[in-house]
Amino acid sequence: MQKAIEHVDEIFHLLKEELKNTKFPAVSHPQWEKINKTPFTTLISCILSLRTKDEVTEQASYRLLKKYNTPEQLLKALGEEIQQLIYPVGFYKTKTKTIKNISKTLLEQYNGRVPDSFDELLKLKGVGRKTANIVMVYGFKKTGYLPIDVHCHRIPNRLGWIQTKNPGETETELRKILPEKHWDDFNHLFVKFGQTICTPISPFCSKCPIEKYCKQVSVTKNR
Ligand code: SF4
Repeated sequence: MQKAIEHVDEIFHLLKEELKNTKFPAVSHPQWEKINKTPFTTLISCILSLRTKDEVTEQASYRLLKKYNTPEQLLKALGEEIQQLIYPVGFYKTKTKTIKNISKTLLEQYNGRVPDSFDELLKLKGVGRKTANIVMVYGFKKTGYLPIDVHCHRIPNRLGWIQTKNPGETETELRKILPEKHWDDFNHLFVKFGQTICTPISPFCSKCPIEKYCKQVSVTKNR
């Protein structure tokens, strides 16, 4: 029997209160209203976000998807132009190839649509669990998925909820101990929290609303 997370309801309540006026992560930023938002745009933005800072992803996604936002358009677009539009995201040349490949696969095998299935998403080359989870939650508005990015991996470890080495292990462990009623809030709340307070280097523990519930594991420096 897994140990339950102590005070988990209170922790989520405090984080929601603290962050209710903070902007959402890049994949659901208001700037997205300016482009036609679909599961495909969520998928492409998530691919751009891998190993890239949120603000860089946001700008690159906006530049690319404002111009090309369907698999047909991206397959036809010149690779060099896509590279220019998404630069300076990390691995922009590889990501350009991934975007082109995915667009081709979607057109050839899925009638040009992003599959509404976690397992089918994982079959797309370049799509891992994090991206598939993001597309299910933000693209299709499905419940029961836990996208784990760097913030969602780091913070539960600092809190002492889990001891894991990578996002895959974090997802597995959180699925066992985090009550399902909190799954829908987990990603956007912890990303916002990680971007603003529980930052990677030297978190702002002095203004943290959940400090009394945190074991501060591996936190050597804080503000
Ligand atoms: S007390 Fe510090 S390390 Fe713990 S959750 Fe808050 S900001 Fe993060």
